[in-house]
Amino acid sequence: MVAVIRTSRRLADGREILYFDREPRPYDAVDPRDLPPVATHSQLRYDALLGEWVAIASHRQTRTFLPPADQCPLCPSRPGHPSEVPESDYEVVVFENRFPSLATGVARNVLPSAPGSPLAELRPGFGRCEVVCFTSDHDRVFAELGADRARLVVDVWAERTAELSGIDGIEQVFCFENHGEEIGVTLSHPHGQIYAYPFVTPRVEKVLGSVRRHREATGGDLFADVVAAERSGPRVVSANEHWTAFVPAAARWPYEVQLFPVRKVPDIPALGDDERNAFVEVYLDVLARFARRFDHPMPYIASWNQAPVRTGRDDWWLHLQLFSLLRAPGKMKYLAGSESGMGAFITDTNPEDVAEQLRNVKTTGERASQGAPATEGRNESGVEPEKSVVVE
Ligand SMILES: [Zn+2]
Repeated sequence: MVAVIRTSRRLADGREILYFDREPRPYDAVDPRDLPPVATHSQLRYDALLGEWVAIASHRQTRTFLPPADQCPLCPSRPGHPSEVPESDYEVVVFENRFPSLATGVARNVLPSAPGSPLAELRPGFGRCEVVCFTSDHDRVFAELGADRARLVVDVWAERTAELSGIDGIEQVFCFENHGEEIGVTLSHPHGQIYAYPFVTPRVEKVLGSVRRHREATGGDLFADVVAAERSGPRVVSANEHWTAFVPAAARWPYEVQLFPVRKVPDIPALGDDERNAFVEVYLDVLARFARRFDHPMPYIASWNQAPVRTGRDDWWLHLQLFSLLRAPGKMKYLAGSESGMGAFITDTNPEDVAEQLRNVKTTGERASQGAPATEGRNESGVEPEKSVVVE
């Protein structure tokens, strides 16, 4: 395995910061800021009807919101402009979120249940929320990182997943990236986040239930059956020897691609060198297609689905969901009545058409408007622009 060098330091308020490199670098800058200690009072409340935990993190209302670029807290520090990263440059850096929803040092003195509701069990908001800066370059997006840096990010995801999985009480590690102001990203510097949850998330619980039911009904492996079918099906967007990227048959987002390794592994740390390099190749290709589908790069959410730390690991198959809430330029898909109220998704894009559109995007050369379906043509041409966000 390609070696990663990790250097651990502390920020002024005691939070940990980790620098990741291929070559040794001296990291000796001291955080000069006068920061109050991080005080986290998050709590988890149990929704007894849905059987799900909700994190109540009311202290996050004061967090930094879209600061000017010259005050970016994720850029390296400059004289007179101390940031979250004390060094003057870095490759990939990880630090604990200053406004975490979950923290290992959370206040433990919570009531056993919510006031007046004995079924709404309470727990401290224990866990960890980390920020991962992909590059010190404020203006570079993940799609433009290049293969070497993207591979380093994969290795960092693996290292963080392994370490956070080792914390007593952590049940699932979630690496993700929210990209684009349209979906509520509060900092434009290229970065992702990692949440270490003290419970198995509802999506993973639900998928594991489907895997078990499929095995009982057919004797087969649901993940294996899906991956095998999609790899040779009509919705493949990009693929190589080790990975397949396809639009899922029942895609719920206007643009959605799932990336599955060909080999069944539970999580990112289980990926070998060749599989990590092959992931980077396919992922950068798919991101380039997302970036060039329309005249303006699509906002997206990239969401790693990893096995829980303790349960269901033998059943799980690692995959990445990449999806955009943009259905056409200037038109966001909002989770309205059916989706928000009932969890029943209604989408007006056809998965096979979306796969074809993404396959047809030219990923090199001049950016050009791609062949759009007739129903969207007038929006793309700008003849009848709709600048405002349309709520579905
Ligand atoms: Zn920045």
